[in-house]
Amino acid sequence: MHEMSVATSLIDIVLDTAKNNNASKVTKVFVKIGRLAGIEKDALLFAYDAIKDEYGLIKESEMVIEDVPITGKCHKCGKTDTYTEMFFACSSCGAYEVELLTGEEMSITEIEVD
Ligand SMILES: [Zn+2]
Repeated sequence: MHEMSVATSLIDIVLDTAKNNNASKVTKVFVKIGRLAGIEKDALLFAYDAIKDEYGLIKESEMVIEDVPITGKCHKCGKTDTYTEMFFACSSCGAYEVELLTGEEMSITEIEVD
């Protein structure tokens, strides 16, 4: 499962950050995941919960995932819109010159500690 390795690398970052901030307990981890990042949300949550028990620092933490929609800006007419799939024509003029603005990201936005 690909999400297992994603969860592992996210946890590495969380643990590092918590240690650097002398936190004794992490309560929440906010993650931003783009629709195009290729990550199954439920699988990632499952993987996170499975691994977190091994670390006292994050044992009681919860991962909160924010979905990031696919948005793009058309180079021809300048319109910015939200899309549902990867290869798309501009919703306004139909040109295939839409530059992807968001949708591919996968990052931790916030770590809540005690
Ligand atoms: Zn356009």
